[in-house]
Amino acid sequence: MTVSGSTLESLTQLLGEKGVRREADDFLPEVILKPVSTEQVSGILKICHAAGQAIIPIGGKTGLAQGIHKTGDELGLSLERMNTIEEIDVHNRTMIVQAGCILQVAVEAAEEQGLLLPMDFGARGSATVGGAVATNAGGNRVIRYGMMRDMVLGLEVVLADGTVVNSLNKMIKNNTGYDLKQMFIGAEGTLGVVTRVVVRLRPLASSQNTALLAVPDFPKIIELLHYLDSSTAGTLSAFEVMWPEYYEFITREGSVHKQPLPHGSQYYVLVETLGSDSEADAENFESILGQAMEAELFEDAVLAKSQSERNAIWEIRDDVLELFNLGPIVPYDISVTLDNMEAFVDDIQAGMKTFDDPICIIFGHLGDCNLHVILGTKTPEAFDPHAQEELLYTIVGRYQGSVSAEHGIGLAKREHLHCSRNQDELALMCRMKKMMDPQNILNPNKVLAADFVSANA
Ligand SMILES: Cc1cc2nc3c(=O)[nH]c(=O)nc-3n(C[C@H](O)[C@H](O)[C@H](O)COP(=O)(O)OP(=O)(O)OC[C@H]3O[C@@H](n4cnc5c(N)ncnc54)[C@H](O)[C@@H]3O)c2cc1C
Repeated sequence: MTVSGSTLESLTQLLGEKGVRREADDFLPEVILKPVSTEQVSGILKICHAAGQAIIPIGGKTGLAQGIHKTGDELGLSLERMNTIEEIDVHNRTMIVQAGCILQVAVEAAEEQGLLLPMDFGARGSATVGGAVATNAGGNRVIRYGMMRDMVLGLEVVLADGTVVNSLNKMIKNNTGYDLKQMFIGAEGTLGVVTRVVVRLRPLASSQNTALLAVPDFPKIIELLHYLDSSTAGTLSAFEVMWPEYYEFITREGSVHKQPLPHGSQYYVLVETLGSDSEADAENFESILGQAMEAELFEDAVLAKSQSERNAIWEIRDDVLELFNLGPIVPYDISVTLDNMEAFVDDIQAGMKTFDDPICIIFGHLGDCNLHVILGTKTPEAFDPHAQEELLYTIVGRYQGSVSAEHGIGLAKREHLHCSRNQDELALMCRMKKMMDPQNILNPNKVLAADFVSANA
């Protein structure tokens, strides 16, 4: 199927020339629609529904699961011109924001009002609020504030036939039947287009304490996590672990990142607390870490004494893109329970040794059971991503883990969804998709292949 001339004509009439753009990209749709209002999004979907024309919602293009890649003649629907923060309600501690607003812009606007939008991850400067909702993003503070799903109070969504569902709830408790918003959070644009979001804001922390610790073995990491979790009275906001291959590459000689701790340790753990009393919290943080050191839970530590030292530690953890200089690699995002994690990593590392010149880098949000696993080979000729992926997902299945902890399924993990979802779950997903989008025009082939939906709905 190609996009019909009359469909494009109707869309151009609706959006004007500025709202229908041609962009050259091998993977993305050639024609990108750029509405400025919910009414225009609704109009687009009415036209596309009538014509059977597929669309792909597009946010900041930072997703890591090929969720915005074309699979046929889809049109792109970018939310970039719908980027207004409509309201920050300091009494109710809520924000109403259009889906195309850049995450960092929303976070900074909340901060100006003394409030915290606790979503934070490396792509914060490009990812949109709508994209974070559609992928149910996680990030660096899940251990304390949960994933996007836990921060969204209400949504406005446009359905496949153009119906606008306004569910902009601002209350924390609202048990009035089905929680409709949850259906769209993490659905990756396959069930509706998110146009506006009500997010819950929290008090802005006035103290932040950050340390990087060198830990000698894996059981001590788990002990340290449990110890910090119980001794920091709910203020633990990050527990990020870097295996030595990650830390040593990012802080290698000649890198822009200095080494806060010397190379040679088994694990590097970034811990952070957020609190409300800078003096007392700093004292408490030091004393808690002092006790952990006495208990030999770690062997070396550096505490950030200023914002720039804190940033320097976080920049090491966040500089994931630097890994692409290692050679051809594929980043994976998996979950396994903590009791299985060490054996899981041992199995991956052993399996990767069967490849020539392997790259196997591991780091992640360990406090949330979530590891990022980077697999590849130093020499492009030896690169066999399919075999490496098969190895990884077989081991994930063996430990009953998840093939996607936070990046979603998109196109990239679709064929492995069955490793983490049973037949009944998959069949129910197909029935939901068929019911919500009978013509299969909303981001078709993402999460579930079109023919799989037809066969199982
Ligand atoms: C360096 C880096 C670090 C990252 N770290 C993390 C991390 O720690 N935790 C984490 O969870 N993720 C992380 N990510 C990936 C993360 O999922 C995305 O960055 C973000 O959530 C996607 O937002 P986006 O606006 O870029 O969406 P896009 O990439 O444009 O789209 C992603 C998906 O959402 C859909 N979509 C987008 N907007 C809408 C909408 N308005 N309505 C319906 N569907 C929509 C798209 O169709 C697509 O399926 C990272 C990415 C990078 C590059």
